[in-house]
Amino acid sequence: MRLILLGMPGAGKGTQAKKICRGQSIPQISTGDILRQAVKDGTDMGTKAKDYMDKGLLVPDEVIVDIVRERLKDPDCQDGYVLDGFPRTVGQAGSLEDALGNDGIDAVLSIEVAESVVIERLGGRRTCSECSMIYHISSKTSKVDGICDQCGGALIQREDDCAETIMKRLEMYREQTEPLIRYYSERGLLHKISGEGDIDDIFGRIELALREV
Ligand code: AMP
Repeated sequence: MRLILLGMPGAGKGTQAKKICRGQSIPQISTGDILRQAVKDGTDMGTKAKDYMDKGLLVPDEVIVDIVRERLKDPDCQDGYVLDGFPRTVGQAGSLEDALGNDGIDAVLSIEVAESVVIERLGGRRTCSECSMIYHISSKTSKVDGICDQCGGALIQREDDCAETIMKRLEMYREQTEPLIRYYSERGLLHKISGEGDIDDIFGRIELALREV
């Protein structure tokens, strides 16, 4: 299964991608996680990307497209994958289609959440600095305060989860990413999923949608 997860920042793409990937034993390809790792490692690409990320802007298409193209060649991607946070522009979607061909993607899940909900979620979000597992200060706490249940890593607030950057990221989503809903709808690939409510209920809706694919 080769899937794309679309949705505003905070819609729950990362959380649901992890659940899908666990069930299907396929990798989650999160361009945000790849970029954050590059920043941590201090690579040239990470240094360039950090400027954009800190401002809530999108990293230029040519940078991100090359990263994904290379990643998809890895052996663990041969039986499928979940793209989480890519593509984010029509240009990126076109490059992906060029790389994979017309039937390269099986389904696109658009996780739909009201803007007021994502603003609240992102403000309270905590992320594991090691495995990128996602928590929330009130609705999804870890068993031990500040420590990831899964790997014992430290839970941090992402630098771009501050109020000002959140608004910029939402603006980028509306301008650059939302057009992809139409793009994939025209290709008959789009499934809209309500992303509000309980995490397991949302996953149940995803499983239902994937049965039709
Ligand atoms: P995310 O973790 O998906 O919210 O991504 C964090 C940041 O990484 C975004 O705000 C962008 O600056 C950058 N980023 C991640 N994926 C992409 C992408 N596909 N295109 C451009 N920039 C990206």
